[in-house]
Amino acid sequence: MASLQEELQTRRTFAIISHPDAGKTTITEQLLKLGGVVREAGTVKGRKGNFAKSDWMEIEQKRGISVTSSVLQFDFDGKRINILDTPGHEDFSEDTYRTLMAVDSVIMVVDSAKGIEPQTKKLFEIVSERHIPIFTFFNKLDRDGRDALDLVDELESTLGINAYPMNWPIGSGQILAGLFDLYHNNVEVFRPESEAERFLPLNAAGTDLAEPNKLQENSLWAETRDEIEMLKDAGNQFDEQAVMNGELTPVFFGSALQGFGIETFLQTYMQFAPAPSAKKTVSGDEVEPATEQFSGFVFKIQANMNPNHRDRIAFVRIVSGEFERGMDVTLARTNKKLRLSNVTQFMADTRENVENAYPGDIIGVYDTGNFQIGDTIYAGKKAVEFEELPTFTPELFMRVHAKNVLKQKSFHKGVTQLVQEGTIQMYTAWDSGDYILGAVGALQFEVFQFRMENEYNTEVSLEPMGSKIARWIHPEQLDPRMASSRNLLVRDRAEQPVFLFENQFAERWFKDKYPDVDLEEKL
Ligand code: GDP
Repeated sequence: MASLQEELQTRRTFAIISHPDAGKTTITEQLLKLGGVVREAGTVKGRKGNFAKSDWMEIEQKRGISVTSSVLQFDFDGKRINILDTPGHEDFSEDTYRTLMAVDSVIMVVDSAKGIEPQTKKLFEIVSERHIPIFTFFNKLDRDGRDALDLVDELESTLGINAYPMNWPIGSGQILAGLFDLYHNNVEVFRPESEAERFLPLNAAGTDLAEPNKLQENSLWAETRDEIEMLKDAGNQFDEQAVMNGELTPVFFGSALQGFGIETFLQTYMQFAPAPSAKKTVSGDEVEPATEQFSGFVFKIQANMNPNHRDRIAFVRIVSGEFERGMDVTLARTNKKLRLSNVTQFMADTRENVENAYPGDIIGVYDTGNFQIGDTIYAGKKAVEFEELPTFTPELFMRVHAKNVLKQKSFHKGVTQLVQEGTIQMYTAWDSGDYILGAVGALQFEVFQFRMENEYNTEVSLEPMGSKIARWIHPEQLDPRMASSRNLLVRDRAEQPVFLFENQFAERWFKDKYPDVDLEEKL
């Protein structure tokens, strides 16, 4: 039997972030193929479902394998990989952000014809705040894309991170010839005639092919060599520590659809991707993963959308120790003792009741209403409580009320519980006391509405207010007369005043008018 230390050293837990359509699903499929989970990768995507349907559920249906919308686990190269889903589409929500609190590194997929797109930037910012390693994959190299130097430049300037190209394209689109692999000192040929031709070694200086090859007759070859010279002279140095601190992103090119550059990418990524890290507690200590005592935290709660099954799954990231089925744990927030007997894990090819799991792994605990997002669970006597998960500033708002006035009591109960659980955020209008819901993604409203009806038997009506910019103001600086129809004044859950600005102009106008007032993006 492998020891705790050995088990955790094999774990690699990460998420793939991207803007919709950049190729996240296609890459995930290629990774599954490399992990031997599916035999052949292809396009599984059809039309999008309406409700809470993730890309992964579609993979599941079409491939007949067990993935959940949230976690995918498989083995590759002696490592146990846990990929956590971060939906970029209509199911984008606060969950998406919180999932990034449960990973040790991130792959950022960028469409090389489009460059850095808004959703990528938003997700990147969350990752960057945590200073975790981030690896960039410029996808769709088989299409006519933008100039590689241009893309790297944009990456650095838009996101404010240094980049280090691990490989460099030799052409793109119709004339894509291969990848100049600076890190492995070879050239990976696109569509080689034989497997023996797939990797051509470079000379010791890394400037030219070691053996003459027709590739060098291609005019692209000279062009690529010039660019490589430039990168070597003027580019960043590779610095593993800077990668680990999230200050330098290794950059790769390739095509997920063609399966080109993917294997090299995954192998190199696995070489650098960190094993599970320690986590801070409320007292400022860190819990090391190799600590014998089991501990973990809830980063997501998924309600069962089937009204016949009211159960929910709390997704727990294991921080330390070994999970054993049936173990007793304490829920730190309430001090309540729980037995973890009904727990699933998410191997891609089987779905079993899990017997053992280790730091870095995600377990799904069937929950009857005990858990909230951010909760810590631990075994043994020594109390552990991890730092709170951050909350994320909502961007979309709706007024909400019960359709039936006689249902006020269950309405309040439902709203309070769902807000506590972290499903959605709630505000009250300063004057009228009206309830206003806030979310980062529209799906959160749908889930709220559905669960109010199914779990609290209360139909709610939602009145869209559109997107707003939420800014906190210090109570001592507040004069309620500062509010207007373009900047609504509301209270958050902690009774703190917040302005909801209609748009950036409204915010700027306010700042000009009240130059001494400080507006905060978060409390
Ligand atoms: P997601 O929304 O990020 O999950 O993106 P998908 O993986 O669904 O890809 C979006 C579209 O781009 C699909 O039609 C894919 O077939 C296509 N696609 C993905 N990767 C590549 C690639 O490397 N080259 C080309 N030409 N198309 C790709």
